[in-house]
Amino acid sequence: MNSKTNSNNPYLLLTPGPLSTTDSVKEVMMKDWCTWDDDYNNIVQSIRRKLVALATERTEKYTSVLMQGSGTFSVESVIGTVIPRDGKLLVIANGAYGKRIAQIANTLGIALVVLESDEMLSPDLERIQQTLSDDLAITHVAVVHCETTTGMLNPIKQIGEIVKGQNRIYIVDAMSSFGGIQMDIDQLGIDYLISSANKCIQGVPGFGFVIAKIEEFEKCNNQARSLSLDLYDQWQTMENNNGKWRFTSPTHTVRAFYQALHELEEEGGVEQRQERYETNHRDLVDGMREFGFKTLLADENQSPIITAFHYPENKDFTFQLFYEKLKSKGFVIYPGKVTDLQTFRIGNIGEVYKTNIANLIDAVQESMYWHTHA
Ligand SMILES: *Cc1c(COP(=O)(O)O)cnc(C)c1O
Repeated sequence: MNSKTNSNNPYLLLTPGPLSTTDSVKEVMMKDWCTWDDDYNNIVQSIRRKLVALATERTEKYTSVLMQGSGTFSVESVIGTVIPRDGKLLVIANGAYGKRIAQIANTLGIALVVLESDEMLSPDLERIQQTLSDDLAITHVAVVHCETTTGMLNPIKQIGEIVKGQNRIYIVDAMSSFGGIQMDIDQLGIDYLISSANKCIQGVPGFGFVIAKIEEFEKCNNQARSLSLDLYDQWQTMENNNGKWRFTSPTHTVRAFYQALHELEEEGGVEQRQERYETNHRDLVDGMREFGFKTLLADENQSPIITAFHYPENKDFTFQLFYEKLKSKGFVIYPGKVTDLQTFRIGNIGEVYKTNIANLIDAVQESMYWHTHA
């Protein structure tokens, strides 16, 4: 196991976040912070700048806002703040997280069209194009980048071209990909990108963040359908008070995130991190296929973030037993989330290296042997 990792943990999390973090990320949480002191607020401001720089080379056109809560709170803050009262949202959904965006809009009483499609397939681009040209009331389009349900990487570039070609506002839930997959949101035409602390940047849970195109975001005053999730007001407060949050912020988590950003830079940035995740993913899939496991998705749709596998054909297989066996050998995997099929998932992200995956594959082999010879 990598020496930076997990000396206090009996097992490695192979989950899509919260995930295994370094000891150094955890250690910086051993200090208490005052939320109005400069020492803390300067960290917040630095994080905000670093996030924009991770997202695009055109940093002058974008800003970032941090928001308390898990990632969903940040998604809800965007949906509830940036769509005007007479606006209408198109959600492209091919998994649980796409559906969640639609559920948020429904709960908030926002006019909504959902293009729901098969969880195993990439969204139908022509249908998106058609829907936008048929329904001129649609003002905003939302899609998930890496649909963590399956591990599907959705074509945000092609969708962005359609959305921008039709002059609509583009919202991307890049929760499980930002920091782990290279992207430039200006080139992708993204107006609002959402992610959170405990995914590919490898911080601990407690807040999410939004990277927003300033020109659009400036129009969103007094639109929020919630007080605590008013993203515009949170932005203004941070802008006007040197990084101050409106309500108590998760100070320790923020400090840990700052360290995690530093470690991302030390690793060589998103490019290097993506390479590590891709290696993890390739070794995982190759190893699992040797034992006859089949991936849920075709390789061309698969992200390097998380991989879903079908249950093996072995009729004695139970996920619970497999899970317990792997856990006893130091690996925690993730149950499946697709609607109709029996699957489990293994995350490739977090403080996880090639050697960890090699050890996991050995553990899988032993667990499968146990299944057949119990
Ligand atoms: C993790 C995740 C979220 C947010 O989930 P929370 O449990 O609220 O942190 C949203 N979208 C995607 C694609 C995710 O992977």
